[in-house]
Amino acid sequence: MKTVLITGGSRGIGKCIAENLAKEGFNVVLNYNKSEKEAKQIKKELKEQGIKIEICKADVSKRDEVKKLVKFTLDKFKNIDVLINNAGIAKLQMFNDITDVDWQEMLNTNLNSVFYTTQEVLPNMIHNKNGCIVNISSIWGMVGASCEVAYSVSKAGINGMTKALAKELGLSNIRVNAIAPGVIDTQMNNSLDKVIKEEIKNDTPLNKIGKPIDIYRCVKWLIEDEFTTGQIISPNGGYVI
Ligand code: NAP
Repeated sequence: MKTVLITGGSRGIGKCIAENLAKEGFNVVLNYNKSEKEAKQIKKELKEQGIKIEICKADVSKRDEVKKLVKFTLDKFKNIDVLINNAGIAKLQMFNDITDVDWQEMLNTNLNSVFYTTQEVLPNMIHNKNGCIVNISSIWGMVGASCEVAYSVSKAGINGMTKALAKELGLSNIRVNAIAPGVIDTQMNNSLDKVIKEEIKNDTPLNKIGKPIDIYRCVKWLIEDEFTTGQIISPNGGYVI
């Protein structure tokens, strides 16, 4: 069975992807950072259903912690077939209010983490001439979001990395794709007020906010696919066309 390493699996989209892949029988390593209680709860609930999942704490914005996370996964399962770079943070603020610390934190967490995990996982994938990397980006990396410049930059960076790396890794049979979700109902959007959420819904042709399961379905398809690489796939209800 294939082994999946997913970053930021303790909540929201990552949790949904990790739980569902574990239920499908994949060997899953779920990474978390701050939400230890939530990660342990996921493991416990799955165990009660007879399903195994490994959890591993690591702050993926730090190279040394990513090294430990990848070593943990390889020690457990020998190979990594699928890397899902999902961990991310968001912050609403005017461009001129962004401090150097804010900027670095955003880029370290959302973009540099993808650089670190991918570099650490690649020797194993290249050796196996097999791999699937899925980067969770955002529509804001495609079209930009007002008051979310740092976030938009981090996701645009992911999109660029996805396309360039896909070209470099194709001959090693490693596919690199990004999923750029529209607005999805998770804690990340708790700070959006009701009126804004309603406006987004009304501006969405399918007239709804997305759910984590919508992103899981896309991930599952990308894992099974054999002819898609370098693509930015955007499940967004038609909000961005
Ligand atoms: P969420 O509910 O806030 O969950 C974020 C996850 O990222 C948590 O599991 C968190 O783990 C993890 N994380 C954050 N910093 C981390 C770090 N330094 N190291 C390891 N893990 C870290 O957000 P979400 O909505 O599920 O977002 C998941 C991904 O989808 C993000 O990349 C986000 O940008 C992207 N996305 C979301 C939306 C949306 O509307 N929700 C839309 C487009 C794209 P801990 O709590 O354990 O620290």
